[in-house]
Amino acid sequence: MNVVQLQPKRRTNEPTYLPEGFMLNDMLRAWAKSRAITRLDERFEHFTDICLAKGYKYLSWEAAFRNACRQDWAKLGPPSQVIQVQCSKCHKPLINGHTNTSQGKLCNECYANR
Ligand SMILES: [Zn+2]
Repeated sequence: MNVVQLQPKRRTNEPTYLPEGFMLNDMLRAWAKSRAITRLDERFEHFTDICLAKGYKYLSWEAAFRNACRQDWAKLGPPSQVIQVQCSKCHKPLINGHTNTSQGKLCNECYANR
């Protein structure tokens, strides 16, 4: 009787645990630089620790790390080039523009209701 050994099918479209040897590479560094994302090594360490601790599985670990950077998992703050300016009155970030007044920078809402 012949025993046919079936090779297990290699599936490439299944999420995997953090691959051994997953490291920051030049592509990721260049990507981070283009997005003004700083402290990449700290972010990477934080990311891999969270994934190991929680047993996360991903299809693309590079994409997962990029998402973690965008979402600031490590809570290292926004990209350095973005300066958060707050309204002097309500202290909300001035993302929709502001008006300079004698009381400081006011968001549109506070300026309208001053
Ligand atoms: Zn305001």
